[in-house]
Amino acid sequence: MNAQVLLPGATGMQGSGQQTTLGVMGGGQLGRMFVQAAQAMGYFTAVLDPDPISPAGLVSHYHIQTDYLDQQGLAQLMQRCAAITTEFENVPAPALVTLGAARITAPGAVAVAIAQDRIKEKAHLALSGVPVAPYAVIETVEQLADVPDALLPGILKTARLGYDGKGQVRVNSRAELAAAWASLHHVPCVLEQLLPLAAECSVIVARAANGDCVNFPVQLNLHRAGILAVTQVYEENMPPALIQQAVTATKAIAEELHYVGVLCVEFFVLAEGTPEHAALGALVVNEMAPRPHNSGHYTLDACDVSQFELQVRTLTGLPLVQPRQHSAAVMLNLLGDLWDRNNGGQSQINSAENNSSQKQSDSDPNYLPPWAQVLALPGVHLHLYGKLKASKGRKMGHLTVTAATAQQARAVAQEAARLLGIEAF
Ligand code: ADP
Ligand code: MG
Repeated sequence: MNAQVLLPGATGMQGSGQQTTLGVMGGGQLGRMFVQAAQAMGYFTAVLDPDPISPAGLVSHYHIQTDYLDQQGLAQLMQRCAAITTEFENVPAPALVTLGAARITAPGAVAVAIAQDRIKEKAHLALSGVPVAPYAVIETVEQLADVPDALLPGILKTARLGYDGKGQVRVNSRAELAAAWASLHHVPCVLEQLLPLAAECSVIVARAANGDCVNFPVQLNLHRAGILAVTQVYEENMPPALIQQAVTATKAIAEELHYVGVLCVEFFVLAEGTPEHAALGALVVNEMAPRPHNSGHYTLDACDVSQFELQVRTLTGLPLVQPRQHSAAVMLNLLGDLWDRNNGGQSQINSAENNSSQKQSDSDPNYLPPWAQVLALPGVHLHLYGKLKASKGRKMGHLTVTAATAQQARAVAQEAARLLGIEAF
């Protein structure tokens, strides 16, 4: 499928005069970092995204501003590009079918369609050798009535289009469950048992068309309000047996899907001594993302090859090499909340206390987080995505702290968090 190698650095001296161009469906921050990696290696890039000021569109050679299913837009993308990837899993699978019929497209429509649907996804994840959270599919009122008591308290999740905790409702009783499903307009859902989490982690692999598969180290992730807040990667961030299990399971999932591209799988680590731990074991597989992942942003600064470079390599058929992490790393997500002056310092945690007294400066459009102070700390790498409007919960950028030891990386990251008003971790 992807046997052809698209070498970088075509000059056009002997050929068509056209640089090899790589395309990406979606213009968000993941697309932007893909574009930047591709350009660093000498490719031209094209982005398809309807937003005229999308983060990736702003830095790409070409930006096709149409809807994802627009036939003319897709035709233009195919005309420009030798190979096309995707940066978010909700790119309509039919668009990838169209692209895949005429161009190298990785990941393929089949894998993306599975990752887009929690019901299909769970069936595949369960083949990894690691269990999924106990769950029930809810598509009909009969299925709603048949939900086992053991799944409560639970989390009702829409089968499609959820991200960053959106499309999810926590429910404690059958009455709450029925109300929650109504609030989600009775779309197909899964109800998952609420599990006692000791931690969360993720593994990112890159798999080539020839089956070669390489992995990054296991990332220890802290979520707040359903959104990734902090990722920590260094030796002994997790027990070695769990690291092994998570990497093996992720590779098995990639293999089973005949996956080509960068794939991230998220896991729960269950609290020891709980009935759930006794029943399921320490590790539970949560979900997958058919693309680079927020928990892999540290690879840009702490690894010799980043997740975005591996995305370029899998797309172009270039060799994959096992990445090497050269620095301990802590990544902090920079959400739009930080652009609100009242969220500075400790106020993010106690926002209720600040509301009334400081309301006046709430909408200070000139306020910026204290970047100069943060960048005075050693090993801080700031990445902003070029988004022109900050809003609560919006991912505006991230910051990676690299250091020789885990202790140093953590200490600097805590200080950066304090300066920015991010809760300590
Ligand atoms: P999203 O697609 O929004 O990332 P997830 O299913 O990963 O959705 O859920 C977001 C977060 O909510 C998880 O990272 C975890 O912190 C929490 N969560 C989700 N499912 C469960 C569960 N079954 N038990 C406990 N916590 C959960
Ligand atoms: Mg998730």
